[in-house]
Amino acid sequence: MEINGVQICNVCTRTSEESVGAVFIKAMKNGEEIHVCTGCIPHIIHGSGDVVKSNAVIAAEFKH
Ligand SMILES: [Zn+2]
Repeated sequence: MEINGVQICNVCTRTSEESVGAVFIKAMKNGEEIHVCTGCIPHIIHGSGDVVKSNAVIAAEFKH
């Protein structure tokens, strides 16, 4: 997902801010737009997709 222009991986919650140069791909899951970093893409391709957290879960984790 994306918050204030910062992309956050919906699998590992790494942000584009803390990993400069990381590439995030956009994908759709359950009708919402998600982002996945390159390191987690294999999990999406080879896994069931259960590793992907919903945007609501990610947003909650980033509310500090
Ligand atoms: Zn990731």
